Amino acid sequence: MNLRREKQRKLNEVPIQWGLKLLQRMPHKYHHFLVKSYNRIRGIKNYFKYLNYAAAVMSQVKMTGRFVKIDASSMCQLKCPICPTSTSKHNDNIIGWGYLKFREFKKFLDENPGIKIIELSNWGEIFLNPEITDIIIYAYQKGVRLLAGNGVNLNSVKKEVLEYLVKCKLRLMNISIDGATNETYKQYRRGGNLETVIKNIKIINIFKKKYKSVYPILSWQFVVMGHNEHELPLAKKMAKELNMIFFPKLNWEPGYSSVKNADFVKMEAGMSVVSKDEYQKKYKKVYLLPCVQFWVSPQINWDGKLLGCCQNLWGDFGNVFAQGFETCLTGERFVYAKKMLCGEAKTRGDIPCTKCSLYKEILQNPLKKKDIVFSRF
Ligand code: SF4
Repeated sequence: MNLRREKQRKLNEVPIQWGLKLLQRMPHKYHHFLVKSYNRIRGIKNYFKYLNYAAAVMSQVKMTGRFVKIDASSMCQLKCPICPTSTSKHNDNIIGWGYLKFREFKKFLDENPGIKIIELSNWGEIFLNPEITDIIIYAYQKGVRLLAGNGVNLNSVKKEVLEYLVKCKLRLMNISIDGATNETYKQYRRGGNLETVIKNIKIINIFKKKYKSVYPILSWQFVVMGHNEHELPLAKKMAKELNMIFFPKLNWEPGYSSVKNADFVKMEAGMSVVSKDEYQKKYKKVYLLPCVQFWVSPQINWDGKLLGCCQNLWGDFGNVFAQGFETCLTGERFVYAKKMLCGEAKTRGDIPCTKCSLYKEILQNPLKKKDIVFSRF
């Protein structure tokens, strides 16, 4: 029985392997198109389900249930200059400084068997969670797919944990590496060491070979800035050698180390724009608007506070570990926040979105059904 299941698992991994090879060989300018097309095809599947809600008002649409985000750790050891985690240690907001406890994670999974996918990374470094191995093993036993797609720095992690990432098939790990040499890398990832990160990636690749697994899919996230743009060609080459997808990303803070040679960056990174402002001008929308997470993949803080989205630093909607997930999702304030986000209700001061800079965008362009159906969050 187990042998048959193992064979099936291997067969399932074949198209993923082909897809990854295709991505690695394809010029970067086509990556965006490919990922967008994939998301659209995935969205079509949701669309049929979603037709049931055609007559419903947006705020009543319930697409949650399978996918949630739980921050495994809000703590980070690096001192990246413009990151809220390193600059404030979350002393000035509701995130706080801590990690997801295994006993609470276990209880949460036991109480919510419908949950099948969990994103573990948000504000901190998941590998600083001393109970991360137990979390990874238990999720695997329960058939829950884990992701670390928001990002890890991979500077401090035990070999044993790296082995469990492969054995328990953490699906995706997006590793933040903003430079191809240590000198450049350390300018932003202060306190980190590129050689350690590369060593850890190589160990993962050894385990992937040992266990004949395509997981975790490794992605090299390169935030393109003025001080690192010249290393794009070398970083791409290294990513290929390390069997990683190369993922260049726009700088979140335009005032910090802005891109100097836009044409070079566009050519090397396959990007159509080099800053958030340019993106907004060109596409007439903000670069990233995570508000749909309220419907698609609600964010939960490491201590159980329901935040709704990954940007919320200002207020919670109850505690899912103490009150239960469903109770919090159907709470009056959470439902009201959804109404505000899709323009069905007036702005109300006790909803955290009112303190968010992105809410201005929502006031002008409230969320529409298609935003949720084709969401990539
Ligand atoms: S307005 Fe801000 S806080 Fe509210 S859902 Fe959108 S991103 Fe999150």
